[in-house]
Amino acid sequence: MENDRRIAYFSMEIGLNADVPTYSGGLGVLAGDTIRSAADLRVPMVAVTLLHKKGYFHQKLDENGWQHEEPVEWVVSDFLTHTGVGTTVNISGREVQLEAWKYDVPGYTGATVPVYFLSSDLPDNSDWDRRLTDRLYGGDLYYRLCQEVILGIGGLRMLRALGYQNIERFHMNEGHAAFLALELLGEEVKGANRQTITVEDVARVRDKCVFTTHTPVPAGHDQFPLQMVNEVLRRQEIMEIKQICQWDESVNMTYLALNLSHYVNGVAKKHAEVSSHLFARYAIDSITNGVHASTWVSQPFQELFDNYIPGWRKDNSSLRYAENLPKAEVWRAHRLLKEMLIQHVNQHSQAGMEVDHFTIGFARRAATYKRADLFFQNIARLRELVRKSGPIQVIYGGKAHPHDGGGKELIRRIFQAREALRDEIKIVYLPNYDFDLARILTAGVDIWLNTPRPPLEASGTSGMKAALNGVPSLSILDGWWIEGCIEGVTGWAIDGQDQEIQTHDDYRTDAASLYQKLEQVILPIFYHDREQYINIMRHCIAINGSFFNTERMMLEYVLKAYFL
Ligand SMILES: *Cc1c(COP(=O)(O)O)cnc(C)c1O
Repeated sequence: MENDRRIAYFSMEIGLNADVPTYSGGLGVLAGDTIRSAADLRVPMVAVTLLHKKGYFHQKLDENGWQHEEPVEWVVSDFLTHTGVGTTVNISGREVQLEAWKYDVPGYTGATVPVYFLSSDLPDNSDWDRRLTDRLYGGDLYYRLCQEVILGIGGLRMLRALGYQNIERFHMNEGHAAFLALELLGEEVKGANRQTITVEDVARVRDKCVFTTHTPVPAGHDQFPLQMVNEVLRRQEIMEIKQICQWDESVNMTYLALNLSHYVNGVAKKHAEVSSHLFARYAIDSITNGVHASTWVSQPFQELFDNYIPGWRKDNSSLRYAENLPKAEVWRAHRLLKEMLIQHVNQHSQAGMEVDHFTIGFARRAATYKRADLFFQNIARLRELVRKSGPIQVIYGGKAHPHDGGGKELIRRIFQAREALRDEIKIVYLPNYDFDLARILTAGVDIWLNTPRPPLEASGTSGMKAALNGVPSLSILDGWWIEGCIEGVTGWAIDGQDQEIQTHDDYRTDAASLYQKLEQVILPIFYHDREQYINIMRHCIAINGSFFNTERMMLEYVLKAYFL
């Protein structure tokens, strides 16, 4: 088994299910979906991440909408298997012991992809070192650097200790794992019994590495002071590759990965274009993200597809035949999902939502560029809109990073808007958005809203989950939606700005476009032309579900990056 593995996938977060809380949002869920599709397609992959025994965090919201974070305790041995295999990594002169826990992700063919979770919580380590693999994106810069050393360097050493000797490609999912390339260089130098890196070493490592960048937001690209990296790693390769990577006094993980990979991609066509401007010296291709179809298609739609499109799980592109699904059955499946969602909402809040009312969903990490409050830019206009075009209700969800004051403020503003609109629009913010909540929310609403500030949404994937369940998107043209939007066919664009202007932050014009689309186009169809609404729902599955899935995405990685 170990010797047939040819691809190693490294990711700081991997979202396998709601019980293993080792992810924070889209990046981790994408990693989980990627691995599931690799298993489906029998791609000989092995994956590495950190254990995150204290998870990301559990979100509590007080009556004013302030977020409070509580640690998550999960019983590792309930979900993962102890391998008994260990390795060490040197951190600031200390030999830190690591152990690996394993989770086998099954594919529909019976093939599996093993995922190894690294933990430093071992009695031989100091108390401080034992906490290093506890918290995802927790702690300060030094803590983060140590975690990235464990992921990249410890991860490769662990694979070797576990017996993986035939890995041909190493895929870095975001720059967090880029020290992996440094350790691969170290292997070359050691194997040749040399002391210093040669150009040939660099070429060999580049040939092995693949790098996917996931965000044009500066905070998403980790940088560490060179002095700190030297203190932690104490390895001379750092100074040698400093030249190649154009570092001055800080180590940029993105540049490390860019310089040491033969294939680099962004996660949508637009994102690759934006990244090519950010990193002008590098060739950056695009592989548009997807979601794992049979994970994100809800039970009622699974049954519908099994009846009318047998084989869709093994061949997601056959979802194109959803165009011919009986309309009544599409609506019945959607109604059922909506009833379950509304029941969940009403049980967990005093919102008193109604199944017949047009329901909007908005849930994702509460990061400021995602502009969760854009919908409320003009409260008076919203009041007028529902008076004219019919009732709407809105369901929100999403965690803000514990250190992101702006993100927390966004949540609070939605609570304030809820008060201001209490007699006109039912609004609820569901706490602790996670994998399970994402499944019922993306499938149960009538429309999926996304309002990022372009061009900062690299891809976005939640709208793809909605599409697979026949839920159209109303979204700013950014990320995947530039590719997925056919106006009036698969959903609608919010296009308040001049498309030539690439960066803007104009809440007013974007909100005006949003209101106009809802009032003039979407609500009239929903309330007065149900047949047409169901047509659009079928197009979502047939046109977007058949393409924006990780089966198609994984095949692109195989052909363009892994060359299996
Ligand atoms: C899919 C998913 C996301 C990503 O949402 P985007 O709208 O693509 O940012 C975030 N969190 C969870 C729990 C998800 O399932």
